[in-house]
Amino acid sequence: MANIVAIVGRPNVGKSTFFNRLIEKRQAIMDNEPGVTRDRHYGYAEWCGSYFTVIDTGGYATGSEDKFESEIRKQVKLAIDEASAVIFMVDCRDGLTGFDKDFANVLRTSKKPIFVAANKADTPDKTMLANEFYELGLEGEIYPISAENGSGTGELLDDLIKLFPSEGVEDPDAGIPRIAIVGRPNVGKSSLLNALLGTDRSIVTDEAGTTRDAIHSYYKMYGKNFILIDTAGVRKKGKVKDDIEFYSVLRSLRALEECDVCIVVIDAERGMESQDVNLISLAQRQGKGMVIMVNKWDLIEKDSKTSDKFKKDIQEKLAPIDYIPIMFVSVLNKQRIFQVMEKAVEVFDNKDKKIPTSKLNDILLKEIEHYPPPSIKGKLINIKYITQVNARFPSFAFFSNLPQYISESYQRFLENKIREHFDFEGVPVRLIFRKK
Ligand code: GDP
Ligand code: GDP
Repeated sequence: MANIVAIVGRPNVGKSTFFNRLIEKRQAIMDNEPGVTRDRHYGYAEWCGSYFTVIDTGGYATGSEDKFESEIRKQVKLAIDEASAVIFMVDCRDGLTGFDKDFANVLRTSKKPIFVAANKADTPDKTMLANEFYELGLEGEIYPISAENGSGTGELLDDLIKLFPSEGVEDPDAGIPRIAIVGRPNVGKSSLLNALLGTDRSIVTDEAGTTRDAIHSYYKMYGKNFILIDTAGVRKKGKVKDDIEFYSVLRSLRALEECDVCIVVIDAERGMESQDVNLISLAQRQGKGMVIMVNKWDLIEKDSKTSDKFKKDIQEKLAPIDYIPIMFVSVLNKQRIFQVMEKAVEVFDNKDKKIPTSKLNDILLKEIEHYPPPSIKGKLINIKYITQVNARFPSFAFFSNLPQYISESYQRFLENKIREHFDFEGVPVRLIFRKK
């Protein structure tokens, strides 16, 4: 189930302000990757234990108001199709405009839940103005909010997350790796999918997903079951380049939400691009397993050092993320495509791995003894005990007398030691520091 929320609305109502507020909290905790471009228009948000992907359509639909028909309308439609809920943002200070009504007309034809956020209600008198928007005739409540100071946003988010299934809902496919093939347009995602489905006859079912063209294929290889999530979708004819780009971002976000492990396909001739880095950084924050597949390897002139150079270039762009396996593939020549799937299943197993507490302590406490956390202001910092906690992805709690003083570089040291002793290739690892 994909929890994707699209923020739509005309320019300048405050979409990106709200977007930044939504993703800020998690960013502060987990976004320690430099190299990530700042102009991200999608991110991962958390509210009261619910997680969802949020997309700021304003970052993509950049047309002016007179371009509503031609550009924004199409992009809004795409976003609505892919999202599980829509936040429609309007501006209390400007009041209801014709452009808002145009938006509402598009939204009304969708069957998605719509939350009207009447923004810039910074003070109680402005809040009163929000009632004007009931005139839009959309179902549901109007939420007066201030994206800038946060007032009213809690009520909106409380209602929004009611839509998302809570964890622990019985999933008939639990335990079967769900693998998504993601990446920019034309990198070879559909070709990979076709090659996999075409060469193996043991495909069980081909099942249409919840919306039009989401395809989940049940697949069996070497006795392993897995589910392939196709992001390529149905080819849309006659789309301009921007739309294809936008559409592919939306599809990738959805596939990411739904998968355990993603295969990030990049084009060998183009190398790792900033969009790829953004996608990987999002997947890391979501705790997804990852494999990087450099496709079209047949087009590259090679000598003995080429793949190492390629790896180095990718690692530099992703630094400090250094745990993702990189595979060189030619779908065209059917070269190493099964190895990629095998690797993805391996990563899935790593993601599920539980290290017994005794083993964890035996090994890590010794490492910590060799290289203890540096003392701060004359205070000695001890780490007494480590345990892996139950979570969506490998997470380790370190109990310490002064957890708040454990430096970032020491945290990296600990993560490196975990990775050195236990194989977590392809999987983000989370370290939590608690007082004991
Ligand atoms: P977008 O084009 O819809 O993404 O709008 P922006 O987020 O860029 O915001 C447009 C302008 O409105 C900026 O100058 C923001 O500082 C301002 N703004 C956003 N939210 C609020 C709010 O809650 N109150 C007030 N007074 N201004 C806001
Ligand atoms: P998608 O948009 O990511 O689904 O990309 P497609 O699967 O449609 O592939 C885009 C183009 O790249 C097509 O013309 C493919 O034939 C071509 N292509 C895919 N894989 C390879 C490969 O390994 N080598 C070469 N040379 N071309 C490839």
